[in-house]
Parts: sequence; C-alpha cells; structure tokens
Amino acid sequence: MPVYPPINVFAFDLDGTIYKGNTIIDGAAEVINYINNLGIQIVYFTNSSTRTREQIVDKLGGMGLVTSLNKVYTSAYATAVYANEKSYSKVWCIGTAGLNSEIETFGIQIAEDISLAEALIIGLDPEFDYNKLAEIMPFRSSDCPIIACNRDRSYPVENGRFLPGCGPIVAAVEDALGRKVDCVTGKPSTYMLGLLTSDWNYINSDIIVVGDSYDSDIQMANSYGCRSFLISSSMNHCTDGTTIVQNIGDIIQYLT
Ligand SMILES: [Mg+2]
Repeated sequence: MPVYPPINVFAFDLDGTIYKGNTIIDGAAEVINYINNLGIQIVYFTNSSTRTREQIVDKLGGMGLVTSLNKVYTSAYATAVYANEKSYSKVWCIGTAGLNSEIETFGIQIAEDISLAEALIIGLDPEFDYNKLAEIMPFRSSDCPIIACNRDRSYPVENGRFLPGCGPIVAAVEDALGRKVDCVTGKPSTYMLGLLTSDWNYINSDIIVVGDSYDSDIQMANSYGCRSFLISSSMNHCTDGTTIVQNIGDIIQYLT
C-alpha cells in the first residue's frame, strides 16, 4: 500500500467487517485501537437501514468501540439526507421505526395517505409482506420517485448464517410496480462518501475503505477513487488496486 498520499480517514464497513450479529469479529478492536493511536480518524459506513445512528453508536459502544453520531454513516441516514436535499415534505416508507425516525429528524413526515406522498422510500423491513406490497400499488401509475436504501441480497450474522437484506424487498417492489428505483443511497453508490467528504472536508485520496464485500464496499471505493482493504478468505488476487487481507487484524502490518 502506498504511504503517500497519507491516509486521513478509515471508513469501516460494519456487518461482516467489525461484527456479525451482536458479536464483534476477532481482531476488530485491536485494529480500531491501533488506528486511533496513530491519530487517524475512523468513521463507520454501513448499509444498515433498520437502525438509527444512535442505535449504531450504542451497539459499537457496547463492544468497546467508542464513537459519535457524526462518525456513523448508514443507508437510512443517507436516505434521509437525500430526501431532505430533494425538499420532500411527506414520503411513504417501507422500513422500520429506525428508518422513519432518521427521516423525521429532518422534519419530513411519514405519509399516512399514500396520495400525499412525494416519494417512496424502501429500507429493510423484517415485517414486509404481501399487504405492504399491495398498499403501494398506487405508485404503479405515478411518477413519484422511488429511493432505495440499498440492494444488498443478504448480510452475515453469527454461526455462518445469513439473513435476507434490503435487495429482495427492492426487487419485489420493482416487480410489482413494473419500474426500477430512481436512486440507491447505500453502497456501492458513492453517495455516503460524498457526505463524508463534504462533512469533514476530505478529498477521495484521504480516504481508505475497509470492507468484506467486493461488490459493495470495494466497488464504492473504486468508483470514488479511494484506496481500500478487502477482507476475504476466498479472494487472494485482485487487479484493481484493493489490498486483500484474510482477517481484519492483518491490516496492522500495513500500517507499521
Ligand atoms: Mg459487510
């Protein structure tokens, strides 16, 4: 990994990189502490669309990783920022209370009458069902924008298990409405990196992305011109400049 330009901020993915479910991954705390001691900033970049940033700060804090609200970027938060940029006042939302809460923080209302919604927002919703799909059918014949938090197929939890992600819900909505979403705010979109650079006055070469998903984390980093570490036990060669490590703890050897 080139030493110059210097790295000014690490953007760590969460699911599968820092933790799986409620269990911190071996070596994650050591790497975070090591980078902290180097005086390099750490932010967290997650496609999670179910939790508020406060809940992520609390979850990380419970694992001994102290951070703050302004260093956590989630696809729920990014979607709320995007909706605010578009000046929506009422949106229809498929998602959890956490997603609603992030949107409402910007003074945007969650519509109860679908005819008043200015956009449809889709996040991961563990209670998504046929009725929720039936409810949004009026969007079939409208030109209301559809914004998805992400298209992740699945995400890893403990014991080698995976749970379905937001992607299958987005696919169901697209199929039912007969049209594609207009915007995706989460990875591999670079929207969250855009927020990071403008919030903290960084440029792309200041940032290194660390994640376990080539299609999400590394594609995002490549699209934005950032360096990256891919944590992977199955890939050992990559031609596009990402540095592959088997375990998160292996990153330390590149920083000494
Ligand atoms: Mg991940």
